[in-house]
Amino acid sequence: MLDLMSLFLYNTLSRSKEEFKSIASPVGLYTCGPTVYHYAHIGNLRTYIFEDFLKRTLLYNNFQVEHIMNVTDVGHLVGDQDMGEDKMEKGAAREGKTAWEIADFYLAQFKKDLIALNIIEPAVWCKATDYISEQIDLITILQEKGYTYQTSDGVYYDTSKFADYNKLSHLNLDELKEGARVEKNDEKKNATDFALWKFSPKDQKRQMEWESPWGKGFPGWHIECSAMSLHFLKDHLDIHCGGIDHINIHHTNEIAQSEAATNQKFFNYWLHGALLNISDSEKMAKSEGNILLLEKVTEEEKVEPLAFRYACLLTHYRKPMTYKPEMLGQAATALSNVRRSIENLGAQIGEIDSSFSEQFTTAVNDDLNMPQAVAILQGLLKSDLNSEIKLGTIQSFDTVLGLDLIRTNNLAEEIPSEIRELAAERERARLDQDWATSDVLRTKIQKLGYSIEDHPDGVKIRKI
Ligand code: AMP
Ligand code: ZN
Repeated sequence: MLDLMSLFLYNTLSRSKEEFKSIASPVGLYTCGPTVYHYAHIGNLRTYIFEDFLKRTLLYNNFQVEHIMNVTDVGHLVGDQDMGEDKMEKGAAREGKTAWEIADFYLAQFKKDLIALNIIEPAVWCKATDYISEQIDLITILQEKGYTYQTSDGVYYDTSKFADYNKLSHLNLDELKEGARVEKNDEKKNATDFALWKFSPKDQKRQMEWESPWGKGFPGWHIECSAMSLHFLKDHLDIHCGGIDHINIHHTNEIAQSEAATNQKFFNYWLHGALLNISDSEKMAKSEGNILLLEKVTEEEKVEPLAFRYACLLTHYRKPMTYKPEMLGQAATALSNVRRSIENLGAQIGEIDSSFSEQFTTAVNDDLNMPQAVAILQGLLKSDLNSEIKLGTIQSFDTVLGLDLIRTNNLAEEIPSEIRELAAERERARLDQDWATSDVLRTKIQKLGYSIEDHPDGVKIRKI
């Protein structure tokens, strides 16, 4: 029988649920981050929410977590096969700004989405442009080991030299080639080969380019994730995540180049979230021109952003989810019903109920069964346990659910409304990145006798 208090995660490598064992403490978690040439859409955000459930579940299981997220600010080309324009330069031209300005702007927008969705920030944000030398070093090792060849437009990885090229995708080589054949590059030796370094075009000056042993240019997209994850998590490469659309190309290529360079297994666990779709046959993607933004849909449906998080909780992360606007309204109603029941529980936080806690742990530790975890929360609210114990148990559940469930209870009893309003005003200033106003408001709150602390799971106000 499985010991369900251990944490089980579905590993794309083995295509099975495996008991999670970390290499060392802290657990090394690497999640592929945004390409900052445009806003993140709610499909992207579904993946970041799944990764947040994973991270919170690890924390709930008393693992320490070192979470790294890259920011792709160069080298991600419009086509998957290293062809076409660089998305960053394209975004810059579209907006009449520099690629660097575009990167700063959209990264700030992305961070706002994370705050709105109660997603705990990574410990490290790393931009590809800040780790060019690490990427060049890795390509140099691959070259020395004979894995690379040069064409007229760049340095390529020869995938035929890496025996286990399909170990993540489980596709046979013909199927992988088929997927890679969308765009034609006659100079590539194999359809699945990919660019490690691209040369700047001769007739055109790029905004982002660097000298390298092979000539002026810029790194391919996949190499950044290998270089930065090896740099930050060298001896604890535990879990690597992304959406399932990254399995066949991006993550497959990351494994090929990292393992060829180090002669060691890259990450032990690969977790992938299913996509948010627009219909049964159409995924949400910038390239499809059908993206929806969090700010817009929540304004249109008149719901708080956490309603989207709640909606994501209701579909297991490995199941596709089809977006319907009414799903937000329904989630918002369910969430506000939960909040209302919790508000009626008062403000005294008691012990955690062991039976509900065990059920909850069993659910989240079974490959993040969040729909079940929400059902257990509902069961707890309906149970005849006393209010204090309910609150104590909910507080513990909410460290995983991240729905800010008991903020009103705490604040309503002890913190005067004037202070709460100032805190809310400060939160709005922070969302707008207006740090000066945020600091002024913090000082004002302090002068009135309260301290304000920013925690990953929300703001805490205390009487000094
Ligand atoms: P990108 O900015 O395209 O590199 O994507 C950022 C993250 O969002 C990656 O983990 C992708 O796998 C994921 N992603 C992209 N499209 C979707 C979608 N429609 N639904 C869920 N996740 C997605
Ligand atoms: Zn990546």
